[in-house]
Amino acid sequence: MGLPRPVSPIGQRRDPALDAVTQALPERADVAVVGGGLIGLACAWRLAGRGLSVAVIERETVGCGASLAATGMLAPAAEHEPGSDPLLPLALDSLARWPGFRDDLEAASGLSIDYRADGTLVLAIGRDEVERLRFRYELQRRSGLDAGWLSGADVRRLEPGLRPSVTAGVHCPLDHQVDPRLVMAALVQACRGAGVTITERTPVTGLDWSGGRVTGLVTDHGSLRAGTVILAAGAWSGEGGLLPESLSLPVRPLKGQALALRTTRQTGTLSRMVWTEQVHMAPKGDGQLIVGATVEDCGFRAGVTAGGLYALLEGARRVLPGIEEMEVEAVWSGYRPTSDDDAPIIDTLAPGLVAATGHHRNGYLLAPVTADAVADLVAGGELPAVARPFTLVRFARPEPRRAAR
Ligand SMILES: Cc1cc2nc3c(=O)[nH]c(=O)nc-3n(C[C@H](O)[C@H](O)[C@H](O)COP(=O)(O)OP(=O)(O)OC[C@H]3O[C@@H](n4cnc5c(N)ncnc54)[C@H](O)[C@@H]3O)c2cc1C
Repeated sequence: MGLPRPVSPIGQRRDPALDAVTQALPERADVAVVGGGLIGLACAWRLAGRGLSVAVIERETVGCGASLAATGMLAPAAEHEPGSDPLLPLALDSLARWPGFRDDLEAASGLSIDYRADGTLVLAIGRDEVERLRFRYELQRRSGLDAGWLSGADVRRLEPGLRPSVTAGVHCPLDHQVDPRLVMAALVQACRGAGVTITERTPVTGLDWSGGRVTGLVTDHGSLRAGTVILAAGAWSGEGGLLPESLSLPVRPLKGQALALRTTRQTGTLSRMVWTEQVHMAPKGDGQLIVGATVEDCGFRAGVTAGGLYALLEGARRVLPGIEEMEVEAVWSGYRPTSDDDAPIIDTLAPGLVAATGHHRNGYLLAPVTADAVADLVAGGELPAVARPFTLVRFARPEPRRAAR
């Protein structure tokens, strides 16, 4: 389709288990999913669990959009900020589903996803940051989130590798994390085991309509008839072409760059996720320390930049001097699928057409609730109550008032 590659070619984070997943495009399926990212695969797997035949069609390779670029934080408390209250019930519901989702996924795939329940430490450096952290902490407490205020000394007792310039911290014990590479590999295995067909390198170029409903899709390699099409095309869900103008979605890409460092006994590491105003850092079970992520509103401008990497490394070094000795193992970028209010869109767009997109920086956190909600919608005809605030209705402009005569 002539679109830029979604992930930088430098250091793509791809588990070998993701190689050779592709299968031939079937002629028909109960459900066809556009997009082989986290959301598309999670929905496909849950729908197959309801007894439906499911086909996933991916333009490039599984996970190449945002899903292999993510850090994998399931962090509703650390992420909580002014304006995110409407998302909180969905985020907490999904976090509560994660242990069950993990158990099902690990059992179905035979793979571990490195689920860690160590919590997050949000840090302040210097006096100004303490005031801003205090504001964030009070917001968390008002929203009913579990968060504990720590002095700089308390913080360093938990994470001895941090600099003495860390003046305070907030501990969010209920934030968890997973390893995206392992989650994506496990989802592919679980989908396969459930009979889902995954076809890579096959751009979907159009939808088939008949009698006002979607009846299938068209690709570069043939067409597929389907009872329901699910649009899970991530940051590309808002692009023209697939949907008629009247159904266009308010979704755009927000680029993020990140990198992976190799920790050793000599370099030391962190034992939980750490956030500062500049970066987040997340230690993984294989010894990598992920440092992320820039937020760039620059459209689909691919690649990793010196400025992006500098900002990440400088932000990390400001609190964790040990990174200077760590080897850089990978750098990459990806596009968060971001809606106009940063919350997901889970909705029936037209008969036979469902959208599951716009998960912005919370796709991993929200994957279990999204997949279950989409399965309820497609198999049972209704969204669960927790997902109902996330339909397109919320973006509708109020009708202008008629002037009184
Ligand atoms: C740097 C970074 C860090 C992040 N960290 C976190 C985190 O810590 N925690 C968290 O919860 N979330 C995080 N996220 C967000 C998370 O990665 C996303 O919300 C999530 O991966 C979105 O999944 P998706 O399946 O909707 O999109 P994608 O993974 O982008 O998948 C969409 C897929 O659709 C395909 N596609 C597009 N158009 C077509 C077409 N026409 N035909 C066929 N296929 C098509 C694309 O190639 C792509 O593979 C992060 C994101 C970034 C970029």
